[in-house]
Amino acid sequence: MVFIDYAMKHLKWVEIDGSAPDWNLRQLRSCSSEGGMLLCAVIKSNAYGHGSTEMASILPSADWFAVNSLEEGLELRTAGVDRPVLLLGHVLLERLREAVDAGLRLTVYNYETLEELARVLRTGEECRVHLKVETGTGRQGIMPEDASRFVRTAAGVPGVRVEGLSTHFANIEDTLNHSYAEGQLEVFGKVVRELEEQGLRPGIIHTACTAATILFPETHFDMLRTGIGLYGLWPSRETYLSARSGGGGVPELRPVLSWKTRIVQIKQLPPDSFIGYGCTYRTNRLTRLGVLPVGYADGYDRKCGNTAHVLVRGRRAQVLGRVCMNLIMVDLTDIPEARLEDEVVLLGRDGDESISAETMAEWVGTINYEIVTRISPFLPRVITGRG
Ligand SMILES: *Cc1c(COP(=O)(O)O)cnc(C)c1O
Repeated sequence: MVFIDYAMKHLKWVEIDGSAPDWNLRQLRSCSSEGGMLLCAVIKSNAYGHGSTEMASILPSADWFAVNSLEEGLELRTAGVDRPVLLLGHVLLERLREAVDAGLRLTVYNYETLEELARVLRTGEECRVHLKVETGTGRQGIMPEDASRFVRTAAGVPGVRVEGLSTHFANIEDTLNHSYAEGQLEVFGKVVRELEEQGLRPGIIHTACTAATILFPETHFDMLRTGIGLYGLWPSRETYLSARSGGGGVPELRPVLSWKTRIVQIKQLPPDSFIGYGCTYRTNRLTRLGVLPVGYADGYDRKCGNTAHVLVRGRRAQVLGRVCMNLIMVDLTDIPEARLEDEVVLLGRDGDESISAETMAEWVGTINYEIVTRISPFLPRVITGRG
């Protein structure tokens, strides 16, 4: 874990507002009227670029954590995280032993996983599993008509405890029309009822990502499984508009992450100078150029070339030319007060100006999720604003 004075010695880093994640978590939890609702914080993929161990350390109100891979789960355990951790993705059969040893919960949807668990579990040992049901997202999950057979098979493996049942929605965040999600919920509800009738209902049913948490109380069941909202980002504009028009409260989400670097050279280029690979930008005036030590290797998208801007001393500076692997160049002509090693904001706020993940996503034609998740894990994550 890295604190603020350490970052001052870096050329590029990610700042994490230490008080925002738990605030966001409580905002999301308040979308549920149920008192004892569990909240599982999804911190897969380096916590959407925010740093998974860092995020785990500043989410005291999270009941559970979810990550994608075995490696991510082991990383949390090594960092001392002792709350329940659910693995959402596949664990290689030959590595199930490691998941059991680390007390990680598994998402299961393959009979082969159950068979291998039957082989590796020793007498008296327990492995908690969550069965995932395919309801229309067309990715991981057991087909709904096979769900009760699968649960019975799982429950019959000595040591396997079927603790949870889950599904995942395909398009809640993509549209103002939620009929497809309602259809998925109906399929899932049928599976739940069938299991109930057979006395097989697992204790923890969970389906709600952030958008479902905010928009669909019917999806909450026993646990919320939220990612993007914890980072202070809305799943989409459609989700925000739906929440606004829904009549209920709209959660106030606070962005958690800022991405910063420093100016490593400033120089004057005469008019008609080319900038960067491919000579895609040509100056049309005497230009004060700033060189910044960040590039696509850090997750700064190549499509930002000649398009994006950064913030220097609270003002916008346009990116000139293509994004290189480790460098970008910006126009400081109208910011004469800028100096060598000044802090530069790539993502986040500086004075009255800000660059949001949504703005950058528009520049490069993607979604806010991808913008933050692709920030290189090699950059230090620095926790600010607490204590
Ligand atoms: C990533 C993920 C989530 C979290 O989704 P958000 O939209 O970020 O809240 C929940 N469930 C599963 C299975 C996921 O893969």
